[in-house]
Amino acid sequence: MDKHEVAKRIREQLANGTLPRIIAPLTTEPGWPTSPTGHISADSAIGVVRCAACNDMGAQVAYRFPDGRIVRFHGRCHRIWEEECLRSEKAGSRPQ
Ligand SMILES: [Zn+2]
Repeated sequence: MDKHEVAKRIREQLANGTLPRIIAPLTTEPGWPTSPTGHISADSAIGVVRCAACNDMGAQVAYRFPDGRIVRFHGRCHRIWEEECLRSEKAGSRPQ
């Protein structure tokens, strides 16, 4: 799947709440751990896990959020997701 396709899916999922929006790593607010949204961990089920962004199999990283939700991505899709989160933060609350 092409990067723009993935980015589009991610934006849709951010909009409808399927994907959480991460806190930008630059946040220095007290109380936030150094790793802003939990941690990336190697997933023991590599190869059979669906990526939350592009919906393909073989997600490589898992993000565990403070609310307990676990979202899995390919390394590439994770970067796109991060970019989209940052982009939507900069754009404020104005969805397209
Ligand atoms: Zn993916």
